[in-house]
Amino acid sequence: MDGLDKLQRMAPFMDMEVLEGEHRPPTGGHRPPTGGHRPPTGGHRPPAAETYPKRQSFPIYMAALPNGKRTPILKSMFSSACTRNCKYCAFRADRDFRRETFQPDEMAESFVRIHRAGAVQGIFLSSGMMGSGVTTQDKLLDTAEILRHRMGYQDYLHLKIMPGAEKEQVRRAMQLADRVSVNLEAPTTAHLHKLAPQKMLLEELLRPLRWVEEIRLNEPGRYGWKGRWPSSTTQFVVGAVDETDVDLLRASQYLTHQLHLKRVYYSPFNPVPGTPLEHQSALNPWRQSRLYQASFLIRDYGFDLEEFPFAADGNLPLDVDPKLAWAQQNLAERPVDLERADLQHLMRVPGIGPVGAKAILKARRLGRLRGLRDLRRLGVHAERAGPFILIHGRRPAQQLALF
Ligand code: SF4
Repeated sequence: MDGLDKLQRMAPFMDMEVLEGEHRPPTGGHRPPTGGHRPPTGGHRPPAAETYPKRQSFPIYMAALPNGKRTPILKSMFSSACTRNCKYCAFRADRDFRRETFQPDEMAESFVRIHRAGAVQGIFLSSGMMGSGVTTQDKLLDTAEILRHRMGYQDYLHLKIMPGAEKEQVRRAMQLADRVSVNLEAPTTAHLHKLAPQKMLLEELLRPLRWVEEIRLNEPGRYGWKGRWPSSTTQFVVGAVDETDVDLLRASQYLTHQLHLKRVYYSPFNPVPGTPLEHQSALNPWRQSRLYQASFLIRDYGFDLEEFPFAADGNLPLDVDPKLAWAQQNLAERPVDLERADLQHLMRVPGIGPVGAKAILKARRLGRLRGLRDLRRLGVHAERAGPFILIHGRRPAQQLALF
């Protein structure tokens, strides 16, 4: 069978697999996060019609690259066969469907044909477990070696680090890829046991992520692909078991601050027919959105886990974004003086993100900050910020009425 046929046969199953980039923000009356960050959109969007190979449907999705640009990526499994039985997964061993497995050169050649046709600008290569993690990782590395060194492929490559991979394999992946990732799936050992009983959180999943950071810290970046080490990411499955937002965000804070992960993805649980969790409800998409908002606040705004207004059940309220909830509790009576506040304090105000805060500091130096209209010109969401700020020592409530 042709490698392209295999990819097409795999495409419907990739819809059921939980891979980063597949979440969508919920639609409705609620707003996305304040300060300019929005939960990334995803899904399988075909590229422009003129570049898309006719009558072919591959597992392609829009990914955010390490440089922030969004681009079509082929998302493929090296093998859809798996010896493990994760309870949420479409590829679990006990599930009955036709499996596909590539050879490394077949995978590389199939991808390069799609890439040369202009349909994608990168590849995210993962796999089911073909026996051990070490064996499977070798297949992914062989594919990457062929792409980089035999076929001269220079564009984006995201390699999955398999559970149980060895440190030397992690290092090799980092020499070939623009991004590497390990899916932790759950924030604690107990939660992982309920989701994926055969996976070991600390030994198989967290350890490789720690190696990634260790290598980045201790070995010269010139050994990495194009002279720098790759970024790293992870993913949690949310809503399949009883993990709370506190559990997820505590783990995220550690991963972001200690292991310097670029992104933590929150993949919404969706029941897959033929799995033990098939009758369980799908995740409320607002929970995913609130988790992204809180994780961006931790990563980019200097927020600490302890500052979020968690409910008694350990979850964030769904009906208000966490930055606004924090401001209502902390800034309503003590508004931020835009003439005096430093960058960190400015970014605490709803409607003001890192870009807006820097613009305010600059406008302040130039004497161009007189009212809400000036804020608006700087790209600040003035209506959101209004209740929590002082301009020239006064609340801009009257100015708000002019908008
Ligand atoms: S290891 Fe688990 S999550 Fe990964 S493909 Fe196999 S069953 Fe799915």
